[in-house]
Formats: sequence, structure tokens, C-alpha cells
Amino acid sequence: MVQSVATQCPACAGRAQHQSRQLTHRLASTSNRCQGTQCVQNNHWGKSVCKSRPRTCIVLQAIAQPEAAVVRETLPVDPSAVHPSSRAPTDFEYDAVIIGSGIGGLTTATQMAAKGAKVVVLEKYVIPGGSAGHYHREGYTFDVGSSMMFGMGHEGTTNLITRALSAVGKSLDTVPDPTQIHYHLPHSEAHPEGLDVKVWRKYEDFVEELSERFPHEREGVKKFYGECWAVFNSLNSLELKSLEEPRYLLGEFAKHPIACLTLASYLPSNTGDVARKYIKDPELLSFIDIECYCWSTVLAEHTPMINAGMVFCDRHYGGINYPRGGVGRIAELLVEGLQERGSHIEYKANVKDIIVKGKGEQQQAVGVRLADGRVFRGKAVVSNATRWDTFEKLLAHEEMPKSESLFRKRYKKSPSFLSIHTGVCADVLPPGTQCHHIIVEDWQTMESPLGTLFVSIPTLLDPTLSPDGTHIVHIFSPDWIDNWKSLSAPQYERKKEEVADALVKRVEAFLPGLTEATVFREVGTPRTHRRFLNRDDGSYGPIPSRRPLGMLGMPFNRTSVQGLYCVGDSTFPGQGVNAVVFSGFGCAHRVLCDQGKQAVIPLLDQGYNSLLAAVRDRS
Ligand SMILES: Cc1cc2nc3c(=O)[nH]c(=O)nc-3n(C[C@H](O)[C@H](O)[C@H](O)COP(=O)(O)OP(=O)(O)OC[C@H]3O[C@@H](n4cnc5c(N)ncnc54)[C@H](O)[C@@H]3O)c2cc1C
Repeated sequence: MVQSVATQCPACAGRAQHQSRQLTHRLASTSNRCQGTQCVQNNHWGKSVCKSRPRTCIVLQAIAQPEAAVVRETLPVDPSAVHPSSRAPTDFEYDAVIIGSGIGGLTTATQMAAKGAKVVVLEKYVIPGGSAGHYHREGYTFDVGSSMMFGMGHEGTTNLITRALSAVGKSLDTVPDPTQIHYHLPHSEAHPEGLDVKVWRKYEDFVEELSERFPHEREGVKKFYGECWAVFNSLNSLELKSLEEPRYLLGEFAKHPIACLTLASYLPSNTGDVARKYIKDPELLSFIDIECYCWSTVLAEHTPMINAGMVFCDRHYGGINYPRGGVGRIAELLVEGLQERGSHIEYKANVKDIIVKGKGEQQQAVGVRLADGRVFRGKAVVSNATRWDTFEKLLAHEEMPKSESLFRKRYKKSPSFLSIHTGVCADVLPPGTQCHHIIVEDWQTMESPLGTLFVSIPTLLDPTLSPDGTHIVHIFSPDWIDNWKSLSAPQYERKKEEVADALVKRVEAFLPGLTEATVFREVGTPRTHRRFLNRDDGSYGPIPSRRPLGMLGMPFNRTSVQGLYCVGDSTFPGQGVNAVVFSGFGCAHRVLCDQGKQAVIPLLDQGYNSLLAAVRDRS
């Protein structure tokens, strides 16, 4: 957590020795606080800010914490913001006990509840949404992680977030983003000022801009992205459910044979291979790499083409749309819809064990035990925790299934993130600034820890997320937990601030004056992600440890323990909010089929799933 101090406002100047943020804030709410008029004299941000929000008159500057300080992480929310949930009953067997209220878990829960099932979601933390939650601080609403939302359009079938909400009678007002990303990329002979590309909402505008940067590759650009559309259009014509359920697949095949065959043909292919068919310029191929890396955290040759088709086209089809009120509204509305259907969510419910009966192939998950000893029984147990947390911690008492050992050979944990949530004076943003930015200064270090910088400014789309006259600037960059181990509390705090200062300086290349303009800052590290998102090593999710066979190696929702399912970014199709909603749709469908609530063709089901497992384990 960043420690802040008032430095400039006359009323606060004498308080500069108070180095804890809490103390500063307490002062701010006493009669000694900075008053709007004083700030106007001091000309910090102008009248409108200071008059309406005296508290924001304090100019806060991040500093290292004093030696004796206790290490605290950044994400805990104000006690008043803890979401209400009563204790869920433990005296009956639920249709599903769901571990975790990430969007994957909540989608499974709501899809099942919408079909009349009784489920309980057990969430360790105090807010729903996991990496796609949000938290409130000092008038700011910070998205924990995600703020670039796919899947919130109104047409086709890939608008899965919209559909997940609508299944429980909810909808969200959104603000269309005119661009997905503004890329600030390295200098080259062809682009001495740096390669600057905006991914416009309108596909033709984006292709034109990219083709202008690479006129000799105009055809290649058109053909590569054209092939992405072939994938997307196929996906976007199908109802998206469990790909582990052959009866549904046959039904879709009967309705859309060409789309199904097209998708099947792309299942084993990777984006890099398709790009190289059409594009020769190494700089443009690096551009395709960053286009993949920014959501898959691997280069194009390791990114399945199916995922690329979805991401590279939905941004133009449904567009990138920001949920009014913050990304966490998605989870909050799913929770409301769940509770309205008589199912439950309980926060501060730390699942310690998955209870399994039987051995070997007879193993069956029958419930979970919380840290406080309470047991929840379920016909199914769905884990929204990562695969590493599920099989190495929650099932630590059981032998690792063979299919999981094989998964660990194919996939490894991606890095986590260093995350800086800041509030800044509004005037630091030049007119025309876009919401999402990616900065790469050197292609060679793109994949290095802290090599690529991600910047999101969601207040450009929804100004209500921060006090008047300010904006939120969220800066994050991939980093490994190993870089944050073996540090004493003061060393840890110091390192957080030093690293954050350095990152902010780099962002100043396109937002000059950012350091000076910062009025609020909190820094989270991979340790923060591990602790508050309950993810092993704070990882963003699985990435291939060798060249993958497209999507074929990625597990779906069933596991080799009967009655135990996984959902979320450790399952097909991987990371991203819309992707984990897809995983939730598939999971709920598969669970309902296995519980006899939706029809299957038993022999076909068995044969097809054995084949799937064999292909996956050998891929
Ligand atoms: C910094 C960052 C930026 C991102 N930006 C974007 C973006 O712009 N767009 C996008 O689409 N995606 C983005 N993503 C990715 C996206 O947010 C995730 O892929 C997605 O939200 C993961 O959802 P999930 O359901 O798999 O799990 P999570 O979000 O990890 O949720 C899992 C939940 O389970 C709970 N849990 C785990 N174990 C237990 C237990 N034992 N007991 C009880 N509860 C438990 C956790 O507390 C957590 O709430 C970003 C991610 C990060 C970290």
C-alpha cells in the first residue's frame, strides 16, 4: 500500500511528517484539513475541484514507509464497502458448491440458478469479481485488473457478458470506447518517431491506419485480419456452450455446418503461423506479437488462433464498452441475480479443502470444508481457483490425477502483475487521450518483467469513477513473484515505491507531468495478487510451456475427479473476462447435463469425452 503525505497545501504543509495515509486522511477530515479556498489560492487544480471536494485539495505524494511500518497490501476495501452476505445454510446438499466469485464462478452459478438449480458461491475475499472486481477509495472506484471489456455488445452470440447478465434479468449501461488500444511502440528506421497505432472501433479505420504505417504490407494486413474474421464469424453464429457435450455440438453442426468445420480446422492452429503466411515485415510481425501478448502474455506463435479471432474482431463488432459505474458492476449484478433466484453467496468464506470420497477412478467430490470448519455439501463442486490452487492446495491430501500432471507439462504459470492505481489531476491528460495504452520501448524486452506497460484511464469513459477534476490512471506491467520474495517489510515497501516511481516516469514519455499530477497512489505487487485474488504466485493464468497445438491442449470444465469441475482462466478458452464467461457457460451446461437436468446421448457422450481426453493428453 502506498503511504502518502500532504506536501503543498498551506494547511497541510506543517503535517508533512505524518507519513501514513490513514493519518493524512484523518487530518483531512478534521477542521485542520485543506479547504477548497486554500487550494484555489495555491492553484492546484482550479476552483471547481476544490470547492466541490475539499478533501481532494491535499496534494499527496508517495513516499517510502517508515522503517517500523507493517506491510499491507493494496486491495483491501473500506469496511463500509464490504458486500453484504449472510451465512449460507449448510444443512442440505446444493446442486453445486462453487469456490470463488470470479466472473467464471459467478457465470456458472447464475447460469445454473437461472435453470432452477440451488447453488452456493463461497468467496474468500469481501467483494465479488476477483480480477474483474472493483474497490472504492477516497472517492475513487478502481478496477482491480480488467477494464477493457469485450463481450458487451448487443448482437451475435459472442456478447457473452451481456448474455450472462440477461440470463438473470440484468443489464448494464455501457460507454462505447472509440479505440481498443493506443499502441506506443519502439522506434525503427521506418518509424523514427516510434510506431504509433490506434486500434479504432471501426475495423476499416484500424486497417487503414496500420496499412499506412506498413504500405508494402497492405495486402498482408487485410488477409491476416480477414482470416481472423473467418474464425470470429463462425464463433459468432453458434450458441456457445460446453464443447465437452456432443449432443449440443451435433445440434450446432446441423444448423451451421460450415461454421463448425471452419472452427474445427482452426482448433490446432496458432496466430503466429497464420500471420507469417501473409506478412513478412519483421516490425509488423512484432506488432502482431504485441497484439497477442497484451491479453495472452505470450507471443503470436504461442497464441491460439481461435482466441485471436475472438479478440481481434469483437473489438470492432460489438466494440469495447466500459460498464458505467466500473467493471465490478458486472459481478455485483450477477450476485444480485443469483440471490434473487434463491441461491447464495458468502464472503470471507475461505475454502480450505475439497472433500473427496473414494479412490482412483472412483474419486468423487462431495463438498468443501472452510477454514472455520464448516462443511458445504454439493452434488457438484466447481472450482474457480486456478488449477494450481485447486489440485495442489484444495486437493493437497489426494494424489495428483495423471491428466493434471500432463497439464503441468503443457502449461506453466504466467507472470503476475505490478499494478499502480493512481488518481491524477485531470489537466495532465492532453485532449484526445485514449482510454487504453500499451507502451513498449524495445521489442527485445517486451516479454521481460516490467517490459511492457499497460495504462488504462477508465474515467475518460465514466468520469463518475473519480472525484471532480481528477482521473484514474491505472498502470500495470507483468512481473514475477520471485522478484518480490525475501524482502523485509521496509525493503518491500521501499521497493514498491521505487519500482512504481520508475514505471510512472516511463509513462511520462506520453503523459508528461504525471508524477507531479499524482494526488493518490496505491501499489500492488505479485504478492498482492496472490493474497487478495488467491491465485498461486499471483499468476495471470496458464501459458503454454511449449508450442501449443492451438486450443487442443487446454482443458475444458470436467476433471478426472467425478463431480469436480474447474471454471475460469485455467480452462478453455483462457484469460479475459469474456473468455471466462464462455468457460462459465460451458461449465454450467456440462454440470446440468451430468446431473440429468439437460439431455445427453449417454454412449456418444462417453465415447466423445474419452476421445477428447486422449487428444488433449497427447497434444
Ligand atoms: C491486471 C489485470 C488486468 C486485466 N485486464 C483485463 C482486461 O482489460 N480485459 C479482460 O477481458 N481481462 C483482463 N484481465 C483478465 C481477467 O480479469 C481475468 O482473466 C478474469 O477476470 C479471471 O476470472 P476468473 O473467474 O478465472 O478468476 P478470478 O478473477 O481469479 O476469481 C477467482 C475468485 O476465486 C476466489 N477464490 C480462489 N480460491 C478460493 C478459495 N480457496 N476459497 C474461496 N474463494 C477463493 C478468489 O478470491 C477470486 O475472487 C486482467 C487481469 C489482470 C490481473
